[in-house]
Amino acid sequence: MPDPRPIHPVPAAVGKVMSLTVDRYSVNTATLGYQAPISELIDAIARHGFGGISPWRREVEGNVSAVARRIRDAGLEVSGYCRSAFFPGKSREEWLANIEENRHALRDAAELRAKCFVLVVGSLPAGSRDIDEARQQVEHGIAALMPDAADLGVPLAIEPLHPMYAADRACVNTIAHALDLCNAIDSGNTGVLGVAIDVYHTWWDANLSAMIARAGRENRFLAFHVNDWLVPTADMLMDRGLMGEGAINLGQITKQVMNSGYKGLHEIEVFSNRVWKWPVDDILSECSRRCNNIV
Ligand code: ZN
Repeated sequence: MPDPRPIHPVPAAVGKVMSLTVDRYSVNTATLGYQAPISELIDAIARHGFGGISPWRREVEGNVSAVARRIRDAGLEVSGYCRSAFFPGKSREEWLANIEENRHALRDAAELRAKCFVLVVGSLPAGSRDIDEARQQVEHGIAALMPDAADLGVPLAIEPLHPMYAADRACVNTIAHALDLCNAIDSGNTGVLGVAIDVYHTWWDANLSAMIARAGRENRFLAFHVNDWLVPTADMLMDRGLMGEGAINLGQITKQVMNSGYKGLHEIEVFSNRVWKWPVDDILSECSRRCNNIV
């Protein structure tokens, strides 16, 4: 079926002062639309030359040892494990159950040797209008997970989400807020709490370059997610662009990230009803082609 919106051309890289090879990129499996079993996706990502993978709990839970082995055998790094249950609950019992669910997922993250466990922190429980209370529950929930993260050696990466998700998916919406939260919870900077910076959620921020530098300077920069913001955006969740298709100056941001001292993989994360219609190999080829043109 023809796609009504054609693929935009890859823009010429401006001021090409450095380049990142495809092996410096990781593929978040959400980019591939869950079209095939995780074992096949692992092999396809490795075959296309990417350096890492970021799997989701739904693909891993119940089968973690085998998935972990397969990823290692393929020579891939796990740039992150997606993702936490939302912390806030309607009651203390719900909040405790959410922490327990995250504790369990964190153990799987350790078995996967994930570089971080991604925290999408949640926000208002159904019927609530108390975002301050939600933020309290998030702060105390993360604090409760810290001993486990330290024991298991898996850092927790708070991912601030775009403010359009402030009511339901995340009450932490800027890098500044996420870094302040890190410092409040982990004042000793123990190395197990930091941030995941996703360009989709943060590109609009007037303080973006300063906050990227701050995340590096404060030794909190755990993950970097790449994609693009399409104009117009047809769906709040499922209409991300591939790198270079939209409004984000990814070349410039990538340079800022590299200058911040961030050494991890750059993770491709594209939720898209449009892209998900393509075969897995076509998605990976297109991502690879675009990686070569970012900086
Ligand atoms: Zn992300």
